[in-house]
Amino acid sequence: MRQELLRQIPKIDVLLQDERLRQVIEKYGRTRTADVLRTVTGEIRGAVLSGEETTVPDADEILRMALCRLEENPACSLRPVINGTGIILHTNLGRAPLSERALRAVEAAAGGYSNLEYRLDSGSRGSRHDHVTEILRELCGTEDAMVVNNNAAAVLLSVAALARGKEVLVSRGELIEIGGSFRIPDVCEQSGAVLREVGTTNRTRLADYQGALNEETGAVFKAHTSNYRIVGFTEETSLEELSGLALENGIPLIYDMGSGLFEGLERYGIEEPDILHAQKAGADVITFSGDKLLGAAQAGLIVGRKQYIERMKRHPLARALRVDKMTLAALEATLYEYRDRNQARREIPVLRMISESPEALRKKAEALCARLAGTAGSGRLTFAVEPCRDRTGGGSAPLNALEGYAVTVRLDTGGSEDISVPEKKCMSCTGIHTLEDLEKALRLAEFPLIARITQDRLWISVRTLLAGDEEKIAEDFEKISRLP
Ligand SMILES: *Cc1c(COP(=O)(O)O)cnc(C)c1O
Repeated sequence: MRQELLRQIPKIDVLLQDERLRQVIEKYGRTRTADVLRTVTGEIRGAVLSGEETTVPDADEILRMALCRLEENPACSLRPVINGTGIILHTNLGRAPLSERALRAVEAAAGGYSNLEYRLDSGSRGSRHDHVTEILRELCGTEDAMVVNNNAAAVLLSVAALARGKEVLVSRGELIEIGGSFRIPDVCEQSGAVLREVGTTNRTRLADYQGALNEETGAVFKAHTSNYRIVGFTEETSLEELSGLALENGIPLIYDMGSGLFEGLERYGIEEPDILHAQKAGADVITFSGDKLLGAAQAGLIVGRKQYIERMKRHPLARALRVDKMTLAALEATLYEYRDRNQARREIPVLRMISESPEALRKKAEALCARLAGTAGSGRLTFAVEPCRDRTGGGSAPLNALEGYAVTVRLDTGGSEDISVPEKKCMSCTGIHTLEDLEKALRLAEFPLIARITQDRLWISVRTLLAGDEEKIAEDFEKISRLP
């Protein structure tokens, strides 16, 4: 009986010759198509052998199943998605979207040759850091600047170049971890420096640093506790106090800021330190990310005193951590936007999203809601506009929420909530029975939409939607509403 069933499973070679697969093979390639057919028929074989299945789907059904799988896993792995989470700097979704100007700059730099390390005036070799040094000096008020791969690299390089083989003083309240693999104690170790913890978790005074200072001290390190806050009975030593101490002892004060801000965002309820303040307070070296609140590409910016930054530029790690031309192009273009703060707020997507008024967001949500309510066959789905709380994300301003608006979606399950959905099959085979199915179908749609489920409904926050996203979401919903 089982042998008979197994014989009924069509051969891959035969399936591949099916006329209906011609376009599919053109789109996904023969190898991938064959792989998927093999997976599907393999699963059927397994189900027959285990007795789970007592019939074998025909060739039509197998082709349909294979096509679903291929569509769920399109040709490109890295794809654009629509961010409906309301988290502006979502690290899993690639953090900051670039401004138009930055996009054009990347395209120009990437598609041809450039003066990346070439001086057009003298016709001789130049440094890639030169492209952003001037503008960073202007914006940060510092003597010198350089750019590396990310802020983690900036911290690693700073400590390695300035305190290798020496002790680095760090407050116990600032032994931060950012996203798993970046932990200050580990970074110190990798830099060849010895971490010297001072103070306590909630209180660290200048006297604690003074007490720990000795001839082995190579640097004072301060980290902005970007993704958490210590509240209650606390005391933190200010940059001003630390800079006096560093200066007296001829050692650098390194400040890891996390997010880079050229101007405070308090008026939007966001408490994050700004670079100019840190520079005025006397930090010798300041490091921050390019793709957090700054709104540019992934990069680690290092600004500060020339004597220290020159040592970093000459350090062997600098080569391993260097940025490429696309990053520099995006960064330079974004930095130029900051010359005019109003322009920066208009043009840099991250700043635009932060500064968008609740009123504008409500209108945006209402427009999207009306649009989705009009999608074909959406009888089972009900859409509404509701206030929600958005976040800056990316490990910044952990305590500050932004008042936003979302389109929420409820699903009329018609009492079929407990229909079990076979994992192996794709959405279009199994249909939408639960809110989780809907969330998954949107995630796997042609324009993947990332939205979250809470309180029995799906939330699409409009703050993080970019131009043209509404159109795509409506298309997704139109297709989904045709599913069983
Ligand atoms: C985010 C962050 C980092 C790591 O920056 P990346 O650019 O993600 O490498 C380091 N330190 C602090 C304080 C941060 O907030």
